[in-house]
Amino acid sequence: MSAVAEASCKQAPGQFVPVINLGRCEGKGECVSICPEQVFELRRIDPTDFGRLGALQKIKLRIHGMKVAYSPNAQACLACAQCITACPEEAITLARSHHPS
Ligand code: SF4
Repeated sequence: MSAVAEASCKQAPGQFVPVINLGRCEGKGECVSICPEQVFELRRIDPTDFGRLGALQKIKLRIHGMKVAYSPNAQACLACAQCITACPEEAITLARSHHPS
């Protein structure tokens, strides 16, 4: 069973973390609105992360105001998967945390 499928039921905080594909994220903020644990924030993409994107992804992100989602409160994630469903760009997956609490 994949990590995402396993995560379809709520887990204790810190077992799973959301992973955001910044190459897909368009900063629409659906994850920020829907997450019951306030895991996400929307902000300007870090220069290092921007540098890793491909040319087309950079253009797309400039059009969308250089804003993407980050997960500063990832350790609070309950693996409810609502952010995965809500993201219109399918940019979020859940992965097992390397530092479970
Ligand atoms: S899986 Fe649920 S708790 Fe975890 S980041 Fe997504 S919406 Fe928040």
